[in-house]
Amino acid sequence: MRHLAAIMLLLVQSWILWANPYSGPVSLVVIDAGHGGRDPGAVSGRLEEKDLTLSISLELERELEARGYEVYMTRDEDVFLELQERCDAANSQDFDISGYPVFISIHINSSAGGDASGFEVYVRQTERDVAFLSAATSDTLALKYSSYTNRQLNAYEARVSSELAEAICRNFSQEFPRVPMRGVKSGDLWVLNGTWMPSVLVEAGFISNDEEADRMASDSFQKQLAVVIADALQEL
Ligand SMILES: [Zn+2]
Repeated sequence: MRHLAAIMLLLVQSWILWANPYSGPVSLVVIDAGHGGRDPGAVSGRLEEKDLTLSISLELERELEARGYEVYMTRDEDVFLELQERCDAANSQDFDISGYPVFISIHINSSAGGDASGFEVYVRQTERDVAFLSAATSDTLALKYSSYTNRQLNAYEARVSSELAEAICRNFSQEFPRVPMRGVKSGDLWVLNGTWMPSVLVEAGFISNDEEADRMASDSFQKQLAVVIADALQEL
């Protein structure tokens, strides 16, 4: 009888662990520095988006590795990558299968006129389901997803992405209470639709706004933003 109880407990535990593909720890963080090479992204004066996204991403890599996370960078130098190449690189990574991968893309906003300001994070539009398997999908990811329907995967992925985006915004507001918080938005964005894992796209501020551009170029802001994002990951 005691054996039966132990077996039941084990079954319940493994059901909880495998009840959704995004339970367990984050075992890989894919950091995607927006733009690069011949694509500068948004430009204002001497500042280019591709340089800011790279230095923020390198700061985030350092912060996450110091906390023991496995990290993969879609780029760690000034090179051009197609959007699909970024997705394929993320989807083809192996990771510890007791956990799951997360994708974080770093971008900088811009507006005509230079008045707009603030911080926002994009998640995938949930009305747009994606197919989770492709030629670029790693064996680990395919195995991780093998017992779920596409609909389940879409629902789980959307939930974890939203939790991460909300946590990043919450932590950012605590760290930078005077910066306008534009919040979590949903967008029909290539790297969010094409990465088969919880994924968010951070717009760290407006390069077209002089005050925000100066702030984003500072080492201290870049370090603080890395801590904000790393703290949010640890809340998952
Ligand atoms: Zn961008």
